[in-house]
Amino acid sequence: MNELKNPTDIAREALKRLAAKHLPPTPANFQVCYNEIAGLPDISPFPEKPLRQLAAALVPHGPQQDAHLDALGQAITRRSWQGVTDAVLGFSQAAGGWAPAVSGGVAPDVLPAELALSLARLVESFSPFFGCDNPRSVAAAGELALLLKQPKVEVHAVRHALDQMVCHVRSGVEEQLEIRDSLLKLLQLIIRNIGELGIDDRWLKGQIDGLLASIAPPLTLRHLDEMERRMRDVLEKQGRARIRSVAAQQEMREMLSEFIKSLSQMNRSSSAFEVRIEETARQVEKVTTPDELKPLLEGVISATHAMAEESAHSREQLKSLQEKVEVTEAELIQLHHELDNASALARHDPLTDALNRKGLDEALLREIASMRRKETPLSVSLLDIDNFKKLNDSLGHDAGDGALIHLANVARHNIRPSDTLARYGGEEFVILMPDTGLDEGIEVITRLQRELTKAIYMSGSERVLITFSAGVAQVAPDEAGNDAIRRADQAMYLAKRAGKNRVFGG
Ligand code: GH3
Ligand code: MG
Ligand code: MG
Repeated sequence: MNELKNPTDIAREALKRLAAKHLPPTPANFQVCYNEIAGLPDISPFPEKPLRQLAAALVPHGPQQDAHLDALGQAITRRSWQGVTDAVLGFSQAAGGWAPAVSGGVAPDVLPAELALSLARLVESFSPFFGCDNPRSVAAAGELALLLKQPKVEVHAVRHALDQMVCHVRSGVEEQLEIRDSLLKLLQLIIRNIGELGIDDRWLKGQIDGLLASIAPPLTLRHLDEMERRMRDVLEKQGRARIRSVAAQQEMREMLSEFIKSLSQMNRSSSAFEVRIEETARQVEKVTTPDELKPLLEGVISATHAMAEESAHSREQLKSLQEKVEVTEAELIQLHHELDNASALARHDPLTDALNRKGLDEALLREIASMRRKETPLSVSLLDIDNFKKLNDSLGHDAGDGALIHLANVARHNIRPSDTLARYGGEEFVILMPDTGLDEGIEVITRLQRELTKAIYMSGSERVLITFSAGVAQVAPDEAGNDAIRRADQAMYLAKRAGKNRVFGG
C-alpha cells in the first residue's frame, strides 16, 4: 500500500478508491482515502475555524466562565480536543446549569423552570414575615412570585426584582430584631415592676429573679416557654395574694366600724347617765323633806342599773369583736403558710427550681403533642439518687438538700436547652428529652452520670460522691406520659437491683 511515494500518484489512487467505495467526493472522505493509501494515521482534521467561531459566540457570566473561555481559546490554539472538551464542560458547569448564552440575541438567559418555581415559593413564604405592617414589601413579594411563575422566566427580568427583595428582607429582619429588643426591654420593666408592687415575699422575689434570668440572651423558644410558666406562677400568686388582702381589708373595715359604733353607743349612754345624775343633783339641792328624796334616789339607782347593763353589753360586744380579729389573723397566717409552703399552684419546686409535678404534667402534655405533630421521638428518664437516706443520716438533712440542689444544677448544665428537668418526688427527678430516641436517651443520661461523678459535691469541707440509678423509656406514639414514666421507673428499679449507679432502658 505504501509503495506509492509520489503524492500525485497517491492522490490519483485516492480518487479511484473514492469511486470504488461509492463515497461522495468531500474533502474529508478524500483525506481518509489519501491517508489509507499513503499509510498515514487516520486523524480527522481539527475544525479550528468553527471552534473559534463558537468560542467568539459564547458570552461569559462571571470570572469563572471567563477563565474557561480563555482555556477554550488556548486549547484550540494547541489543537487539543481534550482541552476543548474540558473548557466547554467547565464553562457550562460554571453557569450553574443555566443554558449558555449565545450572542446575537438568539437565546436569552432563562431560569430552569424548577428553580424559578422554588424561588417563587421562597418569595411567597416572605409575605407572612413582612406582615400587614409592610404592604409595600408584601406587594413586591407578590409581584416577584407572579413573575417567577411565568412559563419562561428570563434572568435579566428577575435579577433586579430579586436584588430589591433582598433589600426588603434585610430591612424586615432589622426591624423585627429591633422590635424584639424593645419588647424584651419592656418585659424586663414590667417584671421589675411586678416585683416592686408585690408583697414582701421571698418566693415571689425568687420567681422574679428567675424570670429576669430567663429573658437574658440567647433567646430561645424554650426560654420563652420557661418565662411564660414562671409568669403564670407569679400572676396566680399575685392574684391570690390580692384577693386575700382585699378580703382582710374588708373584714378589718367592718370590725372597725362596729368598734366605733360600740364606742359611740357607750359614749351616748354615759352622757345620758351624766345628764341624769346632774339633773338629780340639782333636784336634791331643792329637796326639803325626806319623802321628796326617795323617788330621786330610785331614779339614780335605775339609771345606774341601765348604765351597768349598757357597759356589760358593750364589753361583750368588744370581746366578741376581739375574738373575731384573732380568728381573721389566724386565717391570714394559715393562708400565707399554705401559699408559701405548699405552693400548690406553682409549677416550680422551691428547693431545686426544677419543675414540680404540676409543671411536669403540663410539660409532658406539651411534649407529647409536639412528638405526635412532628412525628419525632421523645424519651423520658427517671433518676433516683442512690443511698440518699444514708447521706441524710450521716451528714444531716441540710446536706441532703444541698445534694438535691447540686444534682439539679449539674443536670441543667448537661442537658440540652430543649430538655426539661422536673423533681418527681423526694430524691427522684424526671428528664424529658424531645427529638431523642431510646439509645440516644440512654447515652445522654449516662453522660450526665459521668459528669456528676466529676462535679463533686462539697458539704462544708466534706467531699460527697453522689450517684444515681436511672431508667429511660421512649414514649410510644399513643402512650400516655405517665405510662412512659412508669416504664422508666421500672427500668430504674432494675438498675438499682443490678447494683445501682447505672442506666437501664425500659
Ligand atoms: P436507694 O439507693 O435504694 O434509692 O436508697 P435511698 O436511701 O436513696 O432511698 P429511700 O427511699 O430509702 O430514702 C429516700 C430518702 O430521701 C428518705 C427521705 O428522708 C429523703 N428525702 C426525701 N425528700 C427529701 C428532701 O427534700 N430533702 C432531704 N434532705 N431528704 C429527702
Ligand atoms: Mg426513691
Ligand atoms: Mg434513692
